Amino acid sequence: MTTTASTTASTTATPDWAALRGAVRGRLVSPDEPGWEAARTPWLVNVPQQPAAVLEVADVEDVVAAVRWAVAHGVPVAAQPRGHAPRTVLDGTLLLRTGALDEVVVDRARATARVGAGVQWGTLGAALDGTGMVALAGSNPDPTVVGLLLGGGVSWFTRKHGFTANSVVSVDLVDATGTLVHVTRTSDPDLFWAVRGGGGDFGIVVAAELALFPASEIYGGQLMWPVEHLVPVLRAFREVTATAPDELSVWAHVLHFPPLPDFPEPLRGRSFVSVALTHLGTAAAAERLLAPLRAAAPVEMDLLGPVTPGTLGDVAGEPTDPMPGLETSALLRDLDDEAIAGLAATVSDPRTCPLTIVQIRHLGGAFAHEHPGHGATSPVTEPFQLFALGVPAVPELAEAIPHGFAALHAALAHVEAGHRLPNFLADGDATASAYRPEVLERLRQIKAERDPDGVIRSNKPVLG
Ligand SMILES: Cc1cc2nc3c(=O)[nH]c(=O)nc-3n(C[C@H](O)[C@H](O)[C@H](O)COP(=O)(O)OP(=O)(O)OC[C@H]3O[C@@H](n4cnc5c(N)ncnc54)[C@H](O)[C@@H]3O)c2cc1C
Repeated sequence: MTTTASTTASTTATPDWAALRGAVRGRLVSPDEPGWEAARTPWLVNVPQQPAAVLEVADVEDVVAAVRWAVAHGVPVAAQPRGHAPRTVLDGTLLLRTGALDEVVVDRARATARVGAGVQWGTLGAALDGTGMVALAGSNPDPTVVGLLLGGGVSWFTRKHGFTANSVVSVDLVDATGTLVHVTRTSDPDLFWAVRGGGGDFGIVVAAELALFPASEIYGGQLMWPVEHLVPVLRAFREVTATAPDELSVWAHVLHFPPLPDFPEPLRGRSFVSVALTHLGTAAAAERLLAPLRAAAPVEMDLLGPVTPGTLGDVAGEPTDPMPGLETSALLRDLDDEAIAGLAATVSDPRTCPLTIVQIRHLGGAFAHEHPGHGATSPVTEPFQLFALGVPAVPELAEAIPHGFAALHAALAHVEAGHRLPNFLADGDATASAYRPEVLERLRQIKAERDPDGVIRSNKPVLG
C-alpha cells in the first residue's frame, strides 16, 4: 500500500485554503467561517487552541491530500481526533479531525483488531463483546484507540499485558512527504518503533492493527466510601496492591461531586474515597484479593460486577462529554504513611482543594518489563501514578486549581519520582520528562531524518 508524493516544499504567506478545499472531500473550516468555534474547540474545552484551520477528513485520500498541501504551503499538520489532550503547541496547524475513519475489523482467528484513526475505545470495546478477547483499553471510552496508543497507552490490562503501544501489529500512516505507508516491524523498524509510544510526530496515522488478549471473564467496578474513611481505605489499597497478581488492577480515588442537579442524589455535593478495579478472572478470586478493602470501613456503594469489553469504559465512571479541565500527574516511588496522611490533609475538603478527581493508579507487573521488541515506551518501575483533574467551571476555580495541584505535589514531594508517563503530560510539561534520555534521543533522530521540515506536529513534540 504505497502512494508516492510529488509535492515540493515551498512557503507562501497566506494559506491557499481554496487549493486545499479543491483537493479534499471533507469539510474545511477556517477562522473567518461559520462554525469555527465549534470546529476548533477540543474535548477539553478550556484549552484555547488556535489552529490555522480544521479539516474533518472524509477518507484516507483526504489525509494524503492534506499532508501534501501542508508540505507545499509550509503549514504544519496535526491530528486531533477527540481532543482529550489538546495543547497550544498545535496553534497555527492544519488540524485534522479523523472521526470519519471509522473502520473496525475484528479477526477472531488471528486475535487482532484493525481500527481506523477515528475509532473510539467504546466502539472497539462494543465490537469485542462476545469474542472472549480484550484490547488494551484505557479508562475512558471516548478517546480514540490511535490517540491513546501513540503515547504508549496505559490500560486496565497493562499490568498483565504491557503498554497498548506494544500490542500494535501494524499502522498505516501518511508520512511527512504525503506518502501512505503500511508500517510493520520488518517494513520499517525505526518508524514502527517510534509510533509505538513516541507520539504523533511521525506521520498522520489512518489505521492501526492491535493484538487482542484472552479474557473469558472480567470482574470489576467501584467500591465507594465517604471521604472520612480515606486513611484506612488507602492503607488497605496499599496492602491489596502489594501482593496483587498481574490480573488485578486497582486504582484509588478521592472524588468530589459538585452540588449540581446533573449528579444523582447519593453523589450530589458529596465527597468519597473509592477504588475502581478490573480483574481478569472470576468474581470469587477477585473478592478474596479485595478482602482488606472491604474490611477497612463500611462500603457505602458497591458497584462491582461482571464487566465486558463494551462496559469497560464505565468502570472508572469518568466523564465522556466535553468539559473544561486542568490536569497534573506524577509517578510515585511509594505510598507510605506520610503520603497517605498528606493526601488526607490536602485533598479531603473541596472547599480548600478544589480538585474533582485525585487518582492513584497501581502500576507494577508488565509496566516494568523491558523487551527489545518494544516500541518507544520506557519501562516504569514506580509502583503508583498520581493523576489529578480540576474542573475550572468558573474563573475563580481556574486560579484555585493550580494552587490545589501545588499543595498536592508538596504533600507527595518525598515520593514523587520527577518524571511522568507520556499520555499524562499536562500542557506545559516537557516531553523530555516522559522518556528515558536514550529513547528521546532516538525519537529525535528519527524525527530529524523523516520530517526535517517539521511538516507533522505532535501535541507532545519530541523536539519540544
Ligand atoms: C480523565 C482522563 C483519563 C485518562 N485515562 C487514560 C488512560 O487510562 N490511559 C492512557 O493512556 N491515557 C489516558 N488519558 C490520556 C488520554 O486518553 C490520551 O492522551 C489520548 O491521547 C487522548 O486521545 P484522543 O483521541 O482524545 O487524542 P487527541 O487529544 O485528539 O490527540 C492527542 C494527540 O495524539 C496524536 N494523534 C492522535 N491521533 C493521531 C493520528 N491519527 N495520527 C497522528 N497523531 C495522532 C496527536 O499528536 C494529537 O495531538 C486520560 C486523560 C484524561 C483527561
